[in-house]
Amino acid sequence: MAAQALSERDLTFMLYEVFDAESLTARPRYADHSRETFDAAIETGKAVALKHFLPIRQKVDTNEPTFDGKKVHLIPEIKPALDAVIEAGLAAPSSDFDSGGMQLPPIVTSAAQAHLFAVASTTLGYISLTDANANLIEAHGSKEQIDTWVRPMREGRFMGTMAMTEPGAGSGLADLTTSATREADGSYRLTGNKIFISGGDHELSENIVHLVLARVKGAPKGVKGISLFIVPKFLLNEDGSIGERNDVALAGLFHKMGGRGHTSTALSFGENGGATAYLVGEENKGLMYMFHMMNEARIMVGTGAALTALTGYQYSLDYARERPQGRLLGNKDPESPPIPIIEHADVRRMLLTQKAYAEGAYALCLLGCQLADDEKTAESEEARTQAHTLLDFLTPIIKSWPSEYGPKANNLAIQVMGGHGYINEHPVEMFYRDNRLNPIHEGTTGIQSLDLLGRKVPMNNFAGYQAILNEMQGTIDKARDTELSLFAGQLGAALTELQQTTTSVLGATAEKNIDLVFSNSVSYLEMFGHIVVAWIWLRQGLAADAGLQANPHKDDEHFYRGKLQAMQYFFRSELPKIYHWSKLVRDIDATSFEMKPDWF
Ligand SMILES: Cc1cc2nc3c(=O)[nH]c(=O)nc-3n(C[C@H](O)[C@H](O)[C@H](O)COP(=O)(O)OP(=O)(O)OC[C@H]3O[C@@H](n4cnc5c(N)ncnc54)[C@H](O)[C@@H]3O)c2cc1C
Repeated sequence: MAAQALSERDLTFMLYEVFDAESLTARPRYADHSRETFDAAIETGKAVALKHFLPIRQKVDTNEPTFDGKKVHLIPEIKPALDAVIEAGLAAPSSDFDSGGMQLPPIVTSAAQAHLFAVASTTLGYISLTDANANLIEAHGSKEQIDTWVRPMREGRFMGTMAMTEPGAGSGLADLTTSATREADGSYRLTGNKIFISGGDHELSENIVHLVLARVKGAPKGVKGISLFIVPKFLLNEDGSIGERNDVALAGLFHKMGGRGHTSTALSFGENGGATAYLVGEENKGLMYMFHMMNEARIMVGTGAALTALTGYQYSLDYARERPQGRLLGNKDPESPPIPIIEHADVRRMLLTQKAYAEGAYALCLLGCQLADDEKTAESEEARTQAHTLLDFLTPIIKSWPSEYGPKANNLAIQVMGGHGYINEHPVEMFYRDNRLNPIHEGTTGIQSLDLLGRKVPMNNFAGYQAILNEMQGTIDKARDTELSLFAGQLGAALTELQQTTTSVLGATAEKNIDLVFSNSVSYLEMFGHIVVAWIWLRQGLAADAGLQANPHKDDEHFYRGKLQAMQYFFRSELPKIYHWSKLVRDIDATSFEMKPDWF
């Protein structure tokens, strides 16, 4: 039986040895916590995942949601499983004690939810989107809106969505056409069609709180005319009880290659005169507010991708230890028994690649959680600002690197298992299908690359760009006089290459066609992402090296050596790829740009 759980040793290594999460208990917000309460939350998450979600994983995948014209039907096991997450306090563990949360640091929340996401990343979407929706209303809504909508979401009675995409407006939200008109009582009537809305309809909660982007009649064109509205599935009575159905209808469900744990819906607003909608904040500032949810969701997407990669890695690793096949080239004795496939160096190459991608990706996401926490709870104003700057800058990388390399890891999990990886008796083909969504939603990789190069790098006079370079340089300086000096040197050279490439490509925008200059933006994102992940691996390497110096017992020694080997793999086999990407970017390679649509 292949592994169904993530490596706990790896989770505690990342949490405590790389990111020093225990030190967070010194902050006033976490004064009631200790390593014991952190570990207990992680243990609870694992227990709920293995008890409630693992047994239904395949059933969820083979029984997609259906719509009979009136109601959405899911397999009955989903609701009790989600209720178990809510009852265990794991739906929003970072929220305040006052609103029913556990006030856990986000990095610990990530570890506590890690097994849940590893086993059921798509089903968990109902809960994580609800959390992000509530967080947005808490940040930008009125007190009345918080009391009305956030409280029941925190209690698990209501669920939430993020409704942006339309048939004619996916990546280009500037073209959205859903419209709203102001009524005399201050509410709005909203009309339009949204597609691909995750969790847009179901019977899992008493109500669904849609956060909808729309344009108030007469608003300016483009992104400057977009407002944000709360549009509930059911209106509420004066006393807060569920009232009549709002004018929001499910037009249909989408059938997907994966992600079957979560409904994907087409929603029609206002077919009968207009859905009642409540403005969040001020008119025309909706996209700015929505970024609160999108940025959180982007880290969530990266995390889901990383954990799906990790779980596939664990599964194929266990399989490779048990599956006997073939003999080493040097063994000419046909009478000798076949060896476990992990004995073949090429299988170890595929396992190492998965380990390097998956553990690198998850550590990157944990860094994102740490920064999201630091920007609110770090001791000094300066540290909070620094964390905000870094997180803002890194968000396109935290979203896209795990999303691109997670499915690549899952692809290799299939390959490790040969034909057995391709059939649905094992879950690795499902992991691949589930993970394949991640480079698409929450801003495609192409869109993230334009955000990075066009906006995040030059933003605030290169503040975020410079801040991340400084962080990486700090680790290089630390590693220079250690066993890892060789890797520090390689990362230093990569930073120089990155700086030269950045200066060169942004300099070219002054004299060349901007669409040509940015036509290799994905190569720039790839290069930056690989450098950041190499840095994350160097940080893991330093922690592993420190662990080895402390004369660990045998299992730990194996663990640390494995970490160092995966770091070495990343530096030897992956980091050199940046020179290929940087050449395309620096040369302003025009191959794609000059290819004419008619030439295809
Ligand atoms: C399963 C699933 C769940 C989803 N959940 C939600 C949800 O809950 N809420 C929600 O609002 N949306 C959701 N989405 C929508 C998702 O965010 C969009 O699919 C995504 O933003 C891409 O939009 P699109 O599908 O219209 O593709 P398009 O925007 O048409 O893009 C197609 C291709 O063109 C490229 N492209 C487009 N514009 C540019 C450009 N300017 N420069 C360079 N390349 C470009 C893209 O990178 C992509 O490769 C979901 C989608 C799916 C499939």
